[in-house]
Amino acid sequence: MAPAAELASSFFHYQRILISFSKPSRQAGVKIMSKNIEGKVVVITGASSGLGEATARLLSAQGASVVLGARRVDRIQSLADELTGSGGKALAIPTDVTHYDQVKRLVDAAVQTYGRVDVMINNAGLMPHSPLERLKIDDWNRTIDVNIKGMLYGIAAALPYMKQQQAGHIINVSSVAGHKVRPSSAVYAATKAAVLVISEGLRQEVKPYNIRTTVISPGAVATELPNSVTEPDIAENVRKSYEIAIPAESFARAVAFAMSQPEEVDVNEILFRPTRQEL
Ligand code: NDP
Repeated sequence: MAPAAELASSFFHYQRILISFSKPSRQAGVKIMSKNIEGKVVVITGASSGLGEATARLLSAQGASVVLGARRVDRIQSLADELTGSGGKALAIPTDVTHYDQVKRLVDAAVQTYGRVDVMINNAGLMPHSPLERLKIDDWNRTIDVNIKGMLYGIAAALPYMKQQQAGHIINVSSVAGHKVRPSSAVYAATKAAVLVISEGLRQEVKPYNIRTTVISPGAVATELPNSVTEPDIAENVRKSYEIAIPAESFARAVAFAMSQPEEVDVNEILFRPTRQEL
């Protein structure tokens, strides 16, 4: 089955996929998927749980070398051990994305170990929803530091290598919240809107270097993300809204779809939700 048909047949729907072609592709068919993933060196931030972990598993199973960054070192180390034990190539590097030097060290480790960086997935994030009037200033700061600055540091760490390679792919993680704001989500939604805007600016700027850019906006996906809500009543609301959440593999398949296109095809935006999600 062709990748597009495979996506359409899955149990959630992709509502918006923007693809630009630099020239017509002569390749087609599902074999492209693992072919354009196999052998690639992929750096993933926030790889210790949820979307990042699921993506590491899927890409490793398809032959990518994965370099895992997060603060919970025990989690990324045991994931790396598991993937390596199954015959894959994986490396765990302790990383707090709010420190540029640590994100640079993560990407440098990928290049030192595997010789290049093909894909940078800026996925680390948190979602401590609360109404603005509660003045949760520490939560605002953490959200901005991780969701915006962390992504920018990932771009800064990978871009020089990708320019030199004249090839690469930067994948940023936004959200349905980047497209729609609701009460209690103003700061989170603003960070995810920033991810969309920065990704589009990046797309335009890196054309001369043959670098692809994708921004993925998931709806409710079952991960540990609701645990980042610090206000008990809001956390309860979020948990209810996540009763319809779909598995993290839905996101991993979106990454694989974007990566597996022929190199001249740049999948710029993917927006998907659980089929049952209203917002
Ligand atoms: P999880 O809470 O399961 O994972 C979040 C990841 O981010 C963890 O691996 C965590 O690792 C990492 N992280 C948080 N802070 C930092 C930091 N300072 N430095 C490094 N890593 C950090 O949630 P998800 O997997 O759902 O979230 C991944 C991304 O997906 C986020 O950007 C989120 O906004 C986005 N998203 C998720 C949706 C969902 O419904 N799940 C919907 C839309 C977007 P550690 O704590 O070990 O450092």
